[in-house]
Parts: sequence; C-alpha cells; structure tokens
Amino acid sequence: MPLMNTQPMNTNRPAKVVCVGRNYADHAAELGNQVPTEPVLFIKPGSAIAAGSQIPLDQITKNLALGQLHFECELCLRIGRAVTNAPIDQALGAIDAVTLGLDLTLRSVQDALKAKGLPWERAKAFDGSCLLGDWLSVTEADLAYAEFECWINGERRQHGVSAQMLFGFERLVSEISAVFKLEAGDVIMTGTPSGVGPLNHGDVLELKLIEPQGLAVQQFKVV
Ligand code: ZN
Repeated sequence: MPLMNTQPMNTNRPAKVVCVGRNYADHAAELGNQVPTEPVLFIKPGSAIAAGSQIPLDQITKNLALGQLHFECELCLRIGRAVTNAPIDQALGAIDAVTLGLDLTLRSVQDALKAKGLPWERAKAFDGSCLLGDWLSVTEADLAYAEFECWINGERRQHGVSAQMLFGFERLVSEISAVFKLEAGDVIMTGTPSGVGPLNHGDVLELKLIEPQGLAVQQFKVV
C-alpha cells in the first residue's frame, strides 16, 4: 500500500508561467507605477493554473481577509520548443499557440508587498491564480498583430492591442529566454492593459480574441 495518494504526472501542465508586469503604459499609470525600461518579470508555478473556469472568490481571498481579488486579462503565448537566449529574429518561431488568460491578483496583498519592496508571489502565484483559455495554434505571421477584449457582465472593461505593448512578443521571448530557459509548454502572460478591477460573486468574464482570429469567446465565472 502506498503511503500517500499518487496521481499520474500531468504532462499537459506547463512547468511555469512567466508573467510580464507593466507592459502597457496606461496600466502602469493606473496603478501609479513608472514605465519600465526592461520587462518586469515574475513567475507563477505550473501548480498555480486553475483546473477549470471557475474562480472561487471566498476561498482565494479567505472571505476577503486578504482584500480584493483583481482580474488582469492578458494575451498568453505558448512555447512550442525549448529555447535559451533566443535571438530577436528567431524568437517568434518558439511560439506555437496563443490564448487569453487571467492573471488573478490579490491587489491589497500586492500593494503591501510592493510598499516593503518584497516579492509578489503571495499576491500572484497562489493556487488558482492563473486561468488559461483554449489554445489556438499560430504561425509567426499570425503574431504580427493581436487584439483582445475583456468583458464582465456584458460590459467591456479592457481592450488590448499588441502595438501598445512596451515590449512586443519577440522582445519578450528573447529577453525572458536569456533569464529563464523556456521549455515546450511553458506559457508567457504578456501583461494587461488598463481597466483592471475587483471581482465579485457571480461575475461572468468573457475574454474575446479579435486578432488573430479563430478562438471562441472564453468564459470564466466567479463563484
Ligand atoms: Zn498581469
């Protein structure tokens, strides 16, 4: 008899999700942050990826003891083959799929950590902090322009265009792979545009990828 319950290794789960902070000037401004001169990076472990499409608000915030839970809708890139130190002109070739996802953030916790100059993981890398949609296979040409929206309860709350990113997809893959080896299946969350805010019970989030085309609306629900 085994001493502990074991489960087969989930080979579909990425080892890590590399997240980019402050990649849109308007979002940096809404949180009172300076525009960075190099990408602000942090990591969510693969274990932070939510299994389904539900956001259990009370469980995550400990019944609001941890303060507000903010949504950040982001365009996500999936790495198709391992890369280290990817040159800019080869960086896009490492991406094999895109989707939209949510970088859930315990904003009050993050603000307290930031004030003390401490790492953000307690605010951003907790279980269920990363929600990912279905993946849409892409070629390099598909990545020339991307546009997406986040709607909550029928109201458009965020609108992102890749041209507004401070650091584009090529630069991100190149710079990230110079710090962290990117392995097949790893995910890059490319940052959120302005419009972030708190989630409430019953909220229905609809993430719409306008370009590249082909992904159905991805729906998530706060329970
Ligand atoms: Zn984010």
